[in-house]
Amino acid sequence: MTGPHLHTLEGVVKVTPLKLQFDRSAGSFYGEFLWKNSWEGQWHRHRYSICSEPMCWSQIGDACGYTSAFMGHRILYKEVECVGMGTNNCRIIGRSVEEWDDATDYAQFLSGESIAEQLIDLQTQVVQLRSAINEKEKQPSDIVGTSPAFLAAYELLLQVVKSQITVLLLGETGVGKEVFARSLHEMGSRRNGPFIAINCAAIPHDLVEAELFGVEKGAYTGALTSRLGCLHENEAIQ
Ligand SMILES: [Zn+2]
Repeated sequence: MTGPHLHTLEGVVKVTPLKLQFDRSAGSFYGEFLWKNSWEGQWHRHRYSICSEPMCWSQIGDACGYTSAFMGHRILYKEVECVGMGTNNCRIIGRSVEEWDDATDYAQFLSGESIAEQLIDLQTQVVQLRSAINEKEKQPSDIVGTSPAFLAAYELLLQVVKSQITVLLLGETGVGKEVFARSLHEMGSRRNGPFIAINCAAIPHDLVEAELFGVEKGAYTGALTSRLGCLHENEAIQ
């Protein structure tokens, strides 16, 4: 009777035993209890009005779990009357699950592994989806092409990705030189560093070398101090 007492002491529902017969060694169980002032049923009735099914789900779950643990095998309680259905009190009956004709309908609620397995399944799916997203991000998303010329150029790009070789991309305006350059950077070993595009045509011819690679003091007229070029400054940043 500890379970019913606990339910009463917790203020959940006042439990009165109507009939209780059990034999732990034989595994037989029959329990019938009257529930007065069911908090769950009354609240459900107050909130949703009269329903066609019993409403004290969490309380019936407590009873099933407690008695199953106590008896050492699965006991299924059903609420045969419920204040949520319009009666004055609730009444529950518990028996060994096999003794209920419709036990299979309740099997999923009595399986202890379902939630844990579902969580593990979902976790596995999340890991797989995450890795799939990462894979996708590694692919250059803005390169699309199927022509033989494109595929040949792309094949060349893939060959140099793993190396430190200097690459010169040639082609008419609009063929995608910068897209290829960005893809090379994204797939290469320095992808975590910045990608820096410089328009060399915008720098006066005589100054290009000094701008990019820096200059030593006195290297030419007007070079009063030594300074780093764009490439060195960015190397320093990296
Ligand atoms: Zn109820």
